[in-house]
Amino acid sequence: MPETIVSIVRTPRQPGRREIAAAVRRAVELAGGLPPAVRTGATILLKPNLVAVPRSRESGAVTHPEICRAVAELVRGKGAVPVIADSAGVGADTEAVIEFMGYGALRRDGYAIVDLKKEKTIRVKNPGAAVLPYLNVFEPALRADAVINLPVLKTHDQTEVTLGLKNLKGLLADDSKKAAHRRGLFRSVIETAAFFKPCFTILDGVYAQEGVGPVFGDPVEMDLILAGADMVALDTVAGLIIGYRPEEVPITVLAAKAGLGTADPGQILIAGEPWESVQRPFRRCSEAEIAPETLPCRLYLGGGTCSGCRNTVISVLVELKERDLLPLLKQKTIVTGRPPREKLPGELLLVGACAGAWRRKGVYIEGCPPENSWIIKEIERRDS
Ligand code: SF4
Repeated sequence: MPETIVSIVRTPRQPGRREIAAAVRRAVELAGGLPPAVRTGATILLKPNLVAVPRSRESGAVTHPEICRAVAELVRGKGAVPVIADSAGVGADTEAVIEFMGYGALRRDGYAIVDLKKEKTIRVKNPGAAVLPYLNVFEPALRADAVINLPVLKTHDQTEVTLGLKNLKGLLADDSKKAAHRRGLFRSVIETAAFFKPCFTILDGVYAQEGVGPVFGDPVEMDLILAGADMVALDTVAGLIIGYRPEEVPITVLAAKAGLGTADPGQILIAGEPWESVQRPFRRCSEAEIAPETLPCRLYLGGGTCSGCRNTVISVLVELKERDLLPLLKQKTIVTGRPPREKLPGELLLVGACAGAWRRKGVYIEGCPPENSWIIKEIERRDS
């Protein structure tokens, strides 16, 4: 008999504050209610996804502020103190995201909205971690009695999807975020999730994102709220809704293996809408249309290239195209995976640790996979 509950609740089209609050309440109730950690006097950190300034408020890149408001009210209803806090991606300005998305209205209404990048960081040991044994963590995340995770439903250019597990990276200071990429993103995500262990996850699936997520993908209005105490189970169900079997998402598989929750749909009780009735397969990052013949450079995706580097390169090309910067790639070959025996033409951009064996033959961008911004910065630097 399944013991893990994941709830799925539909909202009306383009829901307003009241409809979102009602759907969040219902989703939490169906999932068994907020856990005992949300108790009188406790400080509860609500962790939205404020990754970067998106193209629009409905782009599906950033957690909708009304979801945070609704959850904050539920937390207050238990006598606890909600603090909405996150840090944007490396190089991105959290305050700009807060402003753009309308979180300022929540601030004016008396909710604590914290840009973690302005907070003190503390270096802590991450027990049992092999890849990130030490983390530099923002102090409010350590001080909080519990974390409620508020991710968005979207595809991701490096990890296939970004849901509950991946969302917790925002609680790490930028140097630890960078270390996560250098040392292996998939394992780092799992070790970060194991460290923070959120007590509950509520997923914003009102405006979601497909294609080249987490920022430059295309919006999809799904009008869904998911909730549950088991973040891996929630990621599993959310993945199924957007067309991913659990075994197709490496971080879901690794998290289940690490004992963080279940990725077995047979062990998950769905409360509310059956996932099949709300399923809408998303276009994956790997399906983004980048016709090689339209590029001014060559791509060499060598043996061993996994979706991490392949999708990173696709995402970088999409961003360069948007910014009219593709001409900077003239006379270059982008290499991922194991380089070939024969000589490749042009200047080589060696992307990711697997291509590191050739680091002396071109420009090497380390990481597994590297951050997109590191690759773009290198391309711009070579032009200056
Ligand atoms: S460096 Fe290798 S293993 Fe790591 S993401 Fe790139 S291709 Fe995959």
